[in-house]
Amino acid sequence: MVILMSLDNTIAKLFAIGADLSTRNAVRIALSLISEDEDLADQIYVAIKNKAYKEDFAKIPVEYRAIFIPQCLRNIKECPAEFGKYGWKCTKCGKCVIGDIIEYGEKLGYKQFYITPGGSLVKKILKEKVPKGEIKAALGIACWPELAEAEEKLSILKIPLQAVPLLKAGCINTIVDIEHVKEVMKIGLEGKHASSKALHLDAKPNPVP
Ligand code: SF4
Repeated sequence: MVILMSLDNTIAKLFAIGADLSTRNAVRIALSLISEDEDLADQIYVAIKNKAYKEDFAKIPVEYRAIFIPQCLRNIKECPAEFGKYGWKCTKCGKCVIGDIIEYGEKLGYKQFYITPGGSLVKKILKEKVPKGEIKAALGIACWPELAEAEEKLSILKIPLQAVPLLKAGCINTIVDIEHVKEVMKIGLEGKHASSKALHLDAKPNPVP
């Protein structure tokens, strides 16, 4: 929470000086001008883009939203998933959070989940599915540098991206805040694209008298 507040403060300072924040590099330069840590550039860029594209993302029906999940979230020792054309095919075995993310998303109406080893497969999927109109928005989970890169590329394609950073990055055993992912998945679905049942997934069932 403290980190988020200091990020917001830094963003406010950048807006106050009218800085050009249109690219990661521009953000980096602006940070150096106000003597802030340039390593925050990716986080600030992603936060600005998330805000800027939230409304556009909200307007896209769930079936056209792709969820990109990094393979590093898998339980690699026990994962029974097979690798296919579009990445790992999760069987929702319960050994990592990916199954929970997919199950929750499916109840909201999401149909496209891609568990990928990295950017090259994401690029291939976008190249195939964006021109066909099958992907019109994306939710991406990754480390800050990858998210910032994805924000830059997807904004060129006019695909609104909502990015969720990993809490612990790396090649294996990474961690994501699943509640954060669920919140982002629900954007724009308040009674519009999803059933009311889907939006109350977290509600506990009434006890049987
Ligand atoms: S939930 Fe899916 S991705 Fe995770 S370990 Fe099981 S099959 Fe693999």
